[in-house]
Amino acid sequence: MKKNIVIVGAGHAAGQVMVMLRQKKYDGKITLIGEEEHYPHQRPPLSKKFLAGELSVERLYIKLPSFYDNPDVELHFGTTVASIDLADKTVVDADNNAYR
Ligand SMILES: Cc1cc2nc3c(=O)[nH]c(=O)nc-3n(C[C@H](O)[C@H](O)[C@H](O)COP(=O)(O)OP(=O)(O)OC[C@H]3O[C@@H](n4cnc5c(N)ncnc54)[C@H](O)[C@@H]3O)c2cc1C
Repeated sequence: MKKNIVIVGAGHAAGQVMVMLRQKKYDGKITLIGEEEHYPHQRPPLSKKFLAGELSVERLYIKLPSFYDNPDVELHFGTTVASIDLADKTVVDADNNAYR
């Protein structure tokens, strides 16, 4: 079975972890779970250039959606992680779906 890395939260750090995994030639699966309905994005421009209408949503993204278009990448936006069982290496969301 392929190795799977589960990333909880789809913020700037999560997006950057995915970039690093690619750069380091990680070839296992990646499951990204975030409670917001957005691709990983930078927040500082939200209260500045984006608010002023000077930036499109795409310019906020760490990577464009096509970056995640890979059979080994699973995205779960709008999903809240409720618990993490370190011993069992399992992450469980609020709907009781398990990821490992
Ligand atoms: C409007 C605004 C302007 C800012 N401006 C600046 C600035 O000018 N300079 C600066 O240095 N910093 C600024 N910051 C702060 C900067 O954006 C943060 O430091 C940065 O976003 C942190 O990134 P992160 O990925 O660590 O965390 P976050 O961006 O907080 O990402 C964490 C993600 O995890 C998700 N999450 C949390 N718990 C769960 C769970 N249980 N299940 C699923 N998902 C979960 C959250 O919804 C979130 O999307 C600003 C922040 C905001 C909001």
